Amino acid sequence: SKPTVIIIGRPNVGKSTLFNRLVGKRLALVDDQPGVTRDRRFGDAEIAGLEFQVVDTAGWEDEDPASLPGRMRMQTEVSLEGADAAMFVFDARVGLTPLDEEIARWLRGQAVPVVLVANKAEGKQGDAGIYESFSLGFGEPAGISAEHGEGIGDLFERLWPII
Ligand code: GDP
Ligand code: MG
Repeated sequence: SKPTVIIIGRPNVGKSTLFNRLVGKRLALVDDQPGVTRDRRFGDAEIAGLEFQVVDTAGWEDEDPASLPGRMRMQTEVSLEGADAAMFVFDARVGLTPLDEEIARWLRGQAVPVVLVANKAEGKQGDAGIYESFSLGFGEPAGISAEHGEGIGDLFERLWPII
């Protein structure tokens, strides 16, 4: 069966835009089934012939900060079960935020391989964020623009060796 890659990151970094970019119209049927949590979306992704199931998450979007750690563990950890890799997305223009750092700390304790994704990196505006992100310990990020479809080849090069 196809490998599963989960998209992780704080709100507004472009996870769903990346999901839509990778899936196009190939939404998985499970998305239409009643009872599926709104916190996850599944789709069939394809980059240059590399096929995988991709999972969009929204587990950090709770308005109540006090419940963030709980939601993180309950929803994302469950999703990570069975995932072959995680794409950890941050906003390269904004740079790292405390929530990015918190998610990174949690991800480092998980067994799943992580591909760091610097989104919104069109033009040069993401460069500072890209350099800053080396401190996370996930290696060099794939600089992409999910919205403009840039850097997807770079993302492919990070993914194919590990899935
Ligand atoms: P999510 O909350 O992580 O799922 O983020 P969304 O996919 O909903 O995107 C949040 C906002 O960022 C939206 O306004 C998107 O249009 C915008 N966005 C997403 N990807 C990019 C990108 O590559 N470049 C720029 N400039 N904006 C983007
Ligand atoms: Mg989203």
